[in-house]
Amino acid sequence: MNRTRDNRSAAESLIFNVSGLLGEPAGSTRDLAISAPPLDFGGDLVQLRDVEGTLRLTRTNRGLLVHGLLTTAIGQTCSRCLRDIEWPVEVDLDEEALPSVDIASGLPVDADAEPDALRLTDHHELDLEEEVRDGILLAEPIAPLCREDCPGLCVVCGEEMASGPHDHPDDEIDPRLEALRGFVDGDSEARNR
Ligand SMILES: [Zn+2]
Ligand SMILES: [Zn+2]
Repeated sequence: MNRTRDNRSAAESLIFNVSGLLGEPAGSTRDLAISAPPLDFGGDLVQLRDVEGTLRLTRTNRGLLVHGLLTTAIGQTCSRCLRDIEWPVEVDLDEEALPSVDIASGLPVDADAEPDALRLTDHHELDLEEEVRDGILLAEPIAPLCREDCPGLCVVCGEEMASGPHDHPDDEIDPRLEALRGFVDGDSEARNR
């Protein structure tokens, strides 16, 4: 076997054919540089960046180990100032993928024995879309902040407090409230008389 063979390859999606690696002895590895376009979350969530990272696939005597860290970013709204923000997400993959057809005989494998196992497709493809999708959904924050100390919005005018300190002198009060204030002043004058 040629041990200097380059075992790196690039993938532009989260589905890749692994039949070559499945034909190699246990312990063989393949490093995959992933750069896959955003997944469709059906409008519930928007992925702003490609899925990037490197995966190491290792042939085991049962199937493949999939190990690596993928990164992307999703769109979120700051829970204090309501600004749109880009939220970085990491998906840590550590999975064993088992064949659904026997690589030597071509016969289907009894998948019922391990119903929860990640399965390669009938065409010896590793499909990580669901794993990555689940990882992104799990990473979605409950109350994201644009920054740790986001001061939020002014309770009087709704302006971002981060845009600078500002106060509200009396002459800025809503004219409708101004009329009310005149009424209150007049009332107290009448009582003091
Ligand atoms: Zn904010
Ligand atoms: Zn204000």
